[in-house]
Amino acid sequence: MMGRRLLIAGNWKMNLDLYESYQLAKAVAEGVESFKNIDVLISPAFISLGVVGQKFKDSNLLIAAQNCHYEDSGAYTGEISLDMIRSTGVDWVIIGHSERRAIFGETDEIVAKKVKHALSNGFHVIGCVGESLEQRENGEQEKVVKTQVEAFLQNLSENELKNLVIAYEPVWAIGTGKVASPEQAEEMHKQIRNIVNGNAGEEAGESILILYGGSVSLTNAEELLGQQDIDGALIGGASLKQESFNGIAAIAEDISKE
Ligand code: PEP
Repeated sequence: MMGRRLLIAGNWKMNLDLYESYQLAKAVAEGVESFKNIDVLISPAFISLGVVGQKFKDSNLLIAAQNCHYEDSGAYTGEISLDMIRSTGVDWVIIGHSERRAIFGETDEIVAKKVKHALSNGFHVIGCVGESLEQRENGEQEKVVKTQVEAFLQNLSENELKNLVIAYEPVWAIGTGKVASPEQAEEMHKQIRNIVNGNAGEEAGESILILYGGSVSLTNAEELLGQQDIDGALIGGASLKQESFNGIAAIAEDISKE
């Protein structure tokens, strides 16, 4: 953490209909209303973004889209532009989640294009990186993550970089219950910070938020969030229940008060 403000982010993925999204957003907003030391973000599906974005825009909840397109408008059936997202009151977007990469074929190049497009349009971006199990077993994790992070950093101005949050999510830990050990996570977070340092200078490296994602739960959150270079969490499964999500946010709030 080291002077950086922790961010607890929930990625709801393709879960919850409009009504359920509204209910969960309300429960989360009420639960974190009194938290002063951290930021809390939820990311509903596009279909719910309008209602959730509008209803909670004056709460202290941050709200993100789970994806966006890299063009402003046009013949891209089924895609969603940044202007559409912004019209719901939302100016955060998660880009390059491993499910987008693995299932929907988003390459480092596409992800970098989206990151640049969103940042240059004034959005805050959570850019996701992380190695697969096979890559870790082959000892390639550092190389893979370095390539992914460097793809983001190309062509970003100093101001754009200020709105980038990086989420390190080892693919083998997402939705599997297999969490990276605090040491494994911290080692990679340190490496990512060093890459940002090297590419954009020490100030950028010291201030950028690096979230950990991959089976974060009420049981492991305290240890993970206690690591020096872990500045929050991107949470899938445990973000779908207000008890676990708000509980993790409460842990982060407590750590931040210390
Ligand atoms: C995620 O999808 O970003 C994620 C980390 O999922 P889970 O917490 O379920 O592993």
